[in-house]
Amino acid sequence: MEIRKVLDNVYMVNLEPPIQGFEKFIASYIVMGEKTAVIDTGPTCSIQNLLNALDRLKIPRENVSYVMLTHIHIDHAGGAGSLLKKLPNAKLVVHSKGAFHMSNPKKLWESTKLVLGRLAEEYGEVEPTQPEKILVGTDELNLYLGGGIKIKVFDTPGHAPHHLSFYEEKNGILFVGEVGGVYLEELGLLRPSTPPPGFNLNENLRSIDRLVALNPKILCYSHFGFTKKIQNLLLYKEKLNLWLRIVKKHKQKTEEEIFKKILEEDKDLNLLKKLETSSFERERFFIINNVKGLIQYIEKFEKQT
Ligand SMILES: [Zn+2]
Repeated sequence: MEIRKVLDNVYMVNLEPPIQGFEKFIASYIVMGEKTAVIDTGPTCSIQNLLNALDRLKIPRENVSYVMLTHIHIDHAGGAGSLLKKLPNAKLVVHSKGAFHMSNPKKLWESTKLVLGRLAEEYGEVEPTQPEKILVGTDELNLYLGGGIKIKVFDTPGHAPHHLSFYEEKNGILFVGEVGGVYLEELGLLRPSTPPPGFNLNENLRSIDRLVALNPKILCYSHFGFTKKIQNLLLYKEKLNLWLRIVKKHKQKTEEEIFKKILEEDKDLNLLKKLETSSFERERFFIINNVKGLIQYIEKFEKQT
């Protein structure tokens, strides 16, 4: 686990789950006012690392008021049930479409195993959260941490229908979640994240427009890192449209062939060659998953065109 300072009151935690190739891939954020908020828990397998980060920052467990989930995919939310058991005063803030699944994670777990296979087991099984600890994160809800720090919730579907983004207004810090894609900070690379079954291009583009309108100063990505390159938000719209065009053009080919076409036609992906083999394999796995999500989207919404 590694802790990095974003600002005086905001820290990023590299959760470093014990999965090969995932050493620099999953982040939680800790926001401090008089009370504390944790944004994204990561999977069950790295919850102890997140607790260690709170300890190292000298944040008493009683001080955490909110655990906020950008969405319920288990690499962001899988550890919530386990974490909440250790935080006596915390409420779990989650989208209305995700709330049921956090208290009854059986279906979430089964569908995750279908999409991710063995990786789901490595992330670890999801423990239920007590329903009375869940607070539905409605659009434009304000959560006050004291000391002038407030976090505003935005309903930002697209990557998934149960996606929220969070905005710390005072310092202009936007916790994008995954609706702004995956930003591999070590490479300076932004790439789409369009997984099945919930990806929706039009909703994703609209959500980005709402986030751009906030005029944020810093973007904090769950995958992985933070940046002042706010233009990433607009670049992401271009990337989504580019990948959709590539997948449409090569739709008859196999997923592996479409993966290769994406590597050829999105020139920025040349940067992936700099990754270690295990991290490159992680990217291949997720990009092929994204191809599946784009094909499902095309079949659902664009069949007639
Ligand atoms: Zn996700």
